[in-house]
Amino acid sequence: MRAPHVAIVGGGLAGLAAAVACADAGARVSLFESRVRLGGATWSTQHRGLEIDNGQHVFLRCCTAYRAFLARIGAADRVTLQPRLAIPVGAPDGRVAWIRRHPFPVPAHLAPTLLRFPWLPLAGRVRAGLTARRLGALDLADPALDGQRFGDWLAAQGESDAAIDGFWDLFVRPTVNLPAREASLALAAKVFQTGLLTEPDGADLGYANVPLQRVHADPATVVLEKAGAHIALRAKVQQLQIGESDAVVCVDGERVAADAVILATPPGDAAGLLPPEAGIDAASLAGLGAAPIVNLHVVFERRVMERPFLAGIGTPLQWIFDRSEASGLASGQYLAVSLSAADAWVGRSAEELRAVFLPAFEALLPGARGVAVRDCFVTVEREATFRGVPGTARLRPPARTRLPRLAVAGAWTQTGWPATMEGAVRSGAAAARAVLVAAGVTRSLPGEPA
Ligand SMILES: Cc1cc2nc3c(=O)[nH]c(=O)nc-3n(C[C@H](O)[C@H](O)[C@H](O)COP(=O)(O)OP(=O)(O)OC[C@H]3O[C@@H](n4cnc5c(N)ncnc54)[C@H](O)[C@@H]3O)c2cc1C
Repeated sequence: MRAPHVAIVGGGLAGLAAAVACADAGARVSLFESRVRLGGATWSTQHRGLEIDNGQHVFLRCCTAYRAFLARIGAADRVTLQPRLAIPVGAPDGRVAWIRRHPFPVPAHLAPTLLRFPWLPLAGRVRAGLTARRLGALDLADPALDGQRFGDWLAAQGESDAAIDGFWDLFVRPTVNLPAREASLALAAKVFQTGLLTEPDGADLGYANVPLQRVHADPATVVLEKAGAHIALRAKVQQLQIGESDAVVCVDGERVAADAVILATPPGDAAGLLPPEAGIDAASLAGLGAAPIVNLHVVFERRVMERPFLAGIGTPLQWIFDRSEASGLASGQYLAVSLSAADAWVGRSAEELRAVFLPAFEALLPGARGVAVRDCFVTVEREATFRGVPGTARLRPPARTRLPRLAVAGAWTQTGWPATMEGAVRSGAAAARAVLVAAGVTRSLPGEPA
């Protein structure tokens, strides 16, 4: 049989994962990306001699599809994955507590961490343990979960405002990119069940050792080129024509014929490209909304933090990562601060952010007191993720559309995951499977059960 030609629109993680899966299954692949580089929401750039990322990205051991993708493109050694969950949490009061897993069965593996958590009263810690058990028992397949805010559900379990904003927020804000109060119970429950309440090692934390460009875009390009894929950058697709026997991608005045198309753009771009016959309502996609992530990048004259990363509590500094080595910094220390659900910080000038965050550094890190700041700048991603509030589950389409020659991919599609790298990679594989099965190439992707 002639190898089918699959055109992929969008070169973020979803498009890259789809492209690699299609190439591995023997398809001819053309990948169209509107920007000058692949990688989508995970990108790197030069800033005054440093190689910086648009935003700190982390993953967990339970992100199995993402980790398999890294292994496939030969990038698994470009990330660090903790052998055992250990997250230091610091506060301006000087205390540092650890979120660790212990060698007990789930959920007892987290009991010592919870019982020693210093910012909740003892009764609050016991309550949090009981709440976690109830969270673990929720049925993720129950559509009613997405009708409720996590904060309301927590309050109904007797969780105090302080526990919701201090303890539960610590986990939900960076994963769902919303405050725990606002997030959909379905997404919050997914995070807790998959990360913390199924396998004891699910939440071991991972992060890139080198700029993201070298973790995703560069190695994926090598793999795709080796497979003979055609990669077009600065190639903004303007229209898709999907017929019964063929498909056409219109890009820069050219019409590229393909057997199938995978649309892997963000939802707003997808809404403009999806033919009505695909059966995906553009208004639904607009309803997914957007939530921002802001990163603050601070270069200190000397080292101010000994740990590779620190989560903050009682401080606006949510997560701080030491990016000195990854960025190529020769002296001093470069710390990147990731601010999720950052609506309050978008639109504020760098000066305003400096005025808030530099004193916060001094309050949180004794080593930062009196140390000169060589550089301080901000990267803002206004549409970092969709807004994972209640009601979003029904707005997220599955990979397969009503047109057999068209599938959609993206962290915003129906993956069950919040908008994450894991969700993006899963969506890419699902879309590849959908078009390849429809084309009769395969019944399953390599490595999957038939
Ligand atoms: C600052 C920040 C921090 C984050 N932190 C984390 C984290 O810690 N952990 C985690 O798991 N996730 C994190 N995320 C989320 C994660 O990066 C995304 O969910 C994921 O990368 C999205 O991948 P995607 O392929 O679905 O979409 P995208 O990466 O948005 O890719 C879509 C691509 O389509 C292209 N495109 C659009 N229109 C067209 C067109 N007409 N023609 C051709 N190409 C087009 C775009 O240019 C883009 O490259 C973070 C995101 C940001 C922004």
